[in-house]
Amino acid sequence: MDLKSNEPFWLIKNGLMTSYPSLKSNEDCDVLIIGGGITGSLIAHQMISDGYRTILIDKREICNGSTSATTSMLQYEIDIPLYELIEKIGEKGAVASYKACSDAIDNLEKLTKQIRSDAGFKRKKSLYFASKRKDVKWLKEEFKARKNAGFNVKWLEADQIVEQFGFENTYGAILSKQGASIDAFKFAHELFEHNTKKGLKIFDKTEMKKVEYHKGFNRVTVDSGFQIKAKKVIYCIGYESKNLLKENFVDLKSTFAIVSEIDDDKFKNISSTLVWNTDDPYIYMRTTDDGRLLIGGGDEDFSDAQKRDALLDKKEKEILKNLKKIKPDYHFYTDFVWAGAFGETKDGLPYIGEHKKFKNSYFVLGFGGNGITFSVTGMEMTSQFMKNKKHLLSDYFQFGR
Ligand SMILES: Cc1cc2nc3c(=O)[nH]c(=O)nc-3n(C[C@H](O)[C@H](O)[C@H](O)COP(=O)(O)OP(=O)(O)OC[C@H]3O[C@@H](n4cnc5c(N)ncnc54)[C@H](O)[C@@H]3O)c2cc1C
Repeated sequence: MDLKSNEPFWLIKNGLMTSYPSLKSNEDCDVLIIGGGITGSLIAHQMISDGYRTILIDKREICNGSTSATTSMLQYEIDIPLYELIEKIGEKGAVASYKACSDAIDNLEKLTKQIRSDAGFKRKKSLYFASKRKDVKWLKEEFKARKNAGFNVKWLEADQIVEQFGFENTYGAILSKQGASIDAFKFAHELFEHNTKKGLKIFDKTEMKKVEYHKGFNRVTVDSGFQIKAKKVIYCIGYESKNLLKENFVDLKSTFAIVSEIDDDKFKNISSTLVWNTDDPYIYMRTTDDGRLLIGGGDEDFSDAQKRDALLDKKEKEILKNLKKIKPDYHFYTDFVWAGAFGETKDGLPYIGEHKKFKNSYFVLGFGGNGITFSVTGMEMTSQFMKNKKHLLSDYFQFGR
């Protein structure tokens, strides 16, 4: 599956930061991680910190899957509003899922400090605005649910949004204190570099082809024919899990993003705020640490990569039309346009845990607009699974739920 179009901004901005060798001998380890994107980098960090002999493989160059295309907004807010998630899975699981995403932002900040990251982690507020008058009713219900759950939120009326952010034609918004952004591509590379110094072995251009299950270990054969014996395998293979697992657990989408220079005088507080709206599909925007404006949206069902890439011009126009609604006088000079794969689950939650067909193995599949924060939660979850412990979120994030 082709996970992205040409020209995702982060690949151009950062280039090929580090390359790793392909596998050229048989290996033996405690934990084999398959997939070297942001999820694999976080899980590898956890496994190395927990003292396991860890190997990571990726069939592409490291971080050349969705991680190179992401817009990397770090939100405690899940694509399914809290009040709706409470109706779907109950208050305990819904609030715990939102809180886990909130904690993930704090944990990620600690991690950026711990490894002295230069990937532009920045704390931001988050503005979730009603793009239609009729959305105000449920957005107020959502505001109440979040307040009851203890999140730091304020309700803003339309005139306050104009005054504080300069956005017109909105009908009210939830302003949350919790949020952040980062260059996830660079951060994942930094984590890999940090952990190779602590013993992590990485092989890219190395594709998992076959897994044989034995008592207490798995034997994984890669495309070159070499084998890795591993006590546990952790699959961090993102949207390509759809090829491996036969059940229908995620709907694949294509999503689109554009980036430009920013005219600061025309915005207020944009560099300290993540912005998204109640449209379906929603649009979202944030600034980058090198002072550009990044806008995403326009999600479509994914059929094939060629059709997706043929939509780039149309989607650019569609996103800009949405921007014009709230910033009628703003001219956006597009620098880059790209598309990437995106996955939607019915409850907006990830799949993290065991799968009955894959012995001695765990999956960490952080789907949706919170893919990255879910992967951070996956760190503590897999750490506990490895010690045969259950996690508070195990039941809510399991396969077959
Ligand atoms: C345009 C866009 C905007 C987004 N915005 C946000 C956002 O604002 N916030 C957010 O949290 N999330 C966002 N996401 C989602 C987020 O980017 C993903 O959740 C995240 O990148 C997934 O990372 P990953 O490491 O799980 O997957 P990937 O980066 O795709 O990595 C999986 C890796 O597995 C490897 N692999 C697959 N099969 C095999 C095999 N058989 N053998 C070896 N290797 C294999 C692949 O080569 C790949 O490198 C966005 C995504 C896109 C495309």
